[in-house]
Amino acid sequence: KSTRLDSKENESEHLPIYQHKAKLIQAVKDSTFLVVTGETGSGKTTQLPKYLHQAGLCKDGKIGITQPRRVAAITVAQRVAQEMQCNLGREVGYQVRFDDCTSPSTVVKYMTDGCLLREILADPVLSQYSVVVLDEVHERSLNTVTYKIDLFLVYLLQDILLGLLKKMFSNPAKTPKGRSIPLKVVVMSATLETDKLSAFLGGCPIFAIPGRAFPVTCTFGFAVGPKDIESTGYAKEVVKVALDVHTSEMAGDILVFLTGQSEIERACDLLYEKAESIDYRYDVQDQTVEGLLILPLYGSMPTDQQRQIFQPPPSGIRKCVVATNIAATSLTINGIKYIIDSGFVKQLNHNSRVGMDILEVVPISKSEAQQRAGRAGRTSAGKCFRIYTKEFWEKSMPEYTVPEIQRTSLTAVILTLKCLGVHDVIRFPYLDCPEERFILEALKQLYQYDAIDRRGRVTKLGELMVEFPLHPGLTRAVLKAASLGCEDLLLPVAAMLSVENIFIRPGHPEKQKEADKKHRALAAKSGSMNDFATLLSVFQSCKSSDRPSAWCKDNWIHWRALKSAFSVETQLREILLRLQQKDFPVDTFDGNKSELFRRCLCTGYFTNVARRSVGKVFCTMDGHGSMVHFHPSSSLFDQEDELNWVIFHDVLVTSRVYIRTVCPIRYEWVKDLLPKLHEVDVYELSGVARE
Ligand code: ADP
Ligand code: MG
Repeated sequence: KSTRLDSKENESEHLPIYQHKAKLIQAVKDSTFLVVTGETGSGKTTQLPKYLHQAGLCKDGKIGITQPRRVAAITVAQRVAQEMQCNLGREVGYQVRFDDCTSPSTVVKYMTDGCLLREILADPVLSQYSVVVLDEVHERSLNTVTYKIDLFLVYLLQDILLGLLKKMFSNPAKTPKGRSIPLKVVVMSATLETDKLSAFLGGCPIFAIPGRAFPVTCTFGFAVGPKDIESTGYAKEVVKVALDVHTSEMAGDILVFLTGQSEIERACDLLYEKAESIDYRYDVQDQTVEGLLILPLYGSMPTDQQRQIFQPPPSGIRKCVVATNIAATSLTINGIKYIIDSGFVKQLNHNSRVGMDILEVVPISKSEAQQRAGRAGRTSAGKCFRIYTKEFWEKSMPEYTVPEIQRTSLTAVILTLKCLGVHDVIRFPYLDCPEERFILEALKQLYQYDAIDRRGRVTKLGELMVEFPLHPGLTRAVLKAASLGCEDLLLPVAAMLSVENIFIRPGHPEKQKEADKKHRALAAKSGSMNDFATLLSVFQSCKSSDRPSAWCKDNWIHWRALKSAFSVETQLREILLRLQQKDFPVDTFDGNKSELFRRCLCTGYFTNVARRSVGKVFCTMDGHGSMVHFHPSSSLFDQEDELNWVIFHDVLVTSRVYIRTVCPIRYEWVKDLLPKLHEVDVYELSGVARE
């Protein structure tokens, strides 16, 4: 075992950052703020915290490193724990939403940006930390973006963290009140144009790690052209190309870029199926490649599986990682020589047609495509196979990625900022000021959910809401239920909606029929035709079953997703219990249980109300008046004619606009809430925001 660890230590000595170790440690010691740049894969994320630890910088406090994505925080922490030869959760740990793997002995802590923001909320001077490292703070100005960050929210969270840290040092003593030791702040970025960042931080020093890269030859394909933007055939094509590479190219691992979990799982299944029929006893240009090791990689993957991605394959076996965009900048996998690029990415966009935020599959930008290709040239020359045509590249792919805003999460971030005492959320020192209309939109939502009052001050309810890591509407419904003593109805639903889809959709027509039948039976079992009630019923049935995993298998439910829902529910319950010790609102209600449940939902979902217009078509009531259809996965599908008013959880746009997770309601229940959607206008709020 020890030899393997030693080899890990040696391995890290080959990283570009290693030669600059001493100077880097000194630079951190010498200044309050430091900007560090270096190409993806140079060792910033894994090595710098380790160096600081070795240099004794954790003696007076922890080293905290933020990552925009949770998978990155988790896998990197695993790696560093290994390199430092300790158990994960001891000296080295991580914390992400709903998953805290730290202990009192943790001194190197990886976490998401959101987690650090929450810590600042609880302890504004971060007295537990000696160094805070903000990682992956990339260049934002649109004409220079070479590294795509898919969510604008990442920028905003980072801006807020930077702004807060900057504010912390704005007093002359340099040591914020309430701290005994000075705090160091390191900002890391893969892009070279860090002058702006440095200027924002008072002209702090920049430490650049020289990089190296090998040439990557790119070829275009024939599969996807400008007309195929809405098709999903690219997943199949990617599989075909992967097998081609496997049977005709020299040794070296493959990295495939697809867009999301279900697609990746399907592609992996297909690869397995086809790869089995290949005769592996052949030689590729004198090198023996016998088999293919197929590994999926996506955000919500279980951590033990994530670990496998980084392990070198057995000799003679070629590794093929099928990943989401996460493998483009946040994670570096060694040994990759071939890239297969689908040309697409899943992105949360604001869809003006329906006036809502929707996860969509869209073409990547050219700069993103270059970044993907570059992953093949880290250790030697590589190849990138694009499955799309040159014409697709020219006509359908934008130069740079325009970051879109995720309004729902923005709402939660703005509430956090307000709770931190930042009243003027528009003139807050952002590195790049977000568009005012997005902030106003968030304020409007907060007002609608009673989290702030007409003058922009946080209400009692708002102070409770900020504690929950959920969509504000869902939080509102949970708090309503808790005030009525029926949180047992809402907590499981909130948990189920916070994890990935729990219903298995096999894709294969025969199997699909079987799954549909089971799912319909589950809905019927809940007693009421209401998709939220189905979620509750699935949660309870599985929880009370003797063999929950078998129960899931039998009912075509993702056991892993359900297991995370159980854990999320427990955590939400703990938060609620803590809040209930203090001054918690109490309400009364008389009516039956089904009505109680649905009325609680209405307090959070009155923004998502639809009314039947003609036939099976419904019309949203949020002012957009979009025409929507029930999604076939809803237990109410095909019974639309019997309903008049419904609320829904989210929207899916394909050729039609579908609403998913639907619940019938009565107009009287939302009558008093609906005017709130129009009552406050943004001009009034813009005054409030600047007051
Ligand atoms: P940077 O932050 O500069 O992009 P990293 O520190 O993430 O660089 O990566 C440095 C090296 O560590 C890479 O070679 C990468 O493959 C390796 N590495 C990172 N995470 C893991 C992991 N979980 N398991 C194995 N190797 C890893
Ligand atoms: Mg990194």
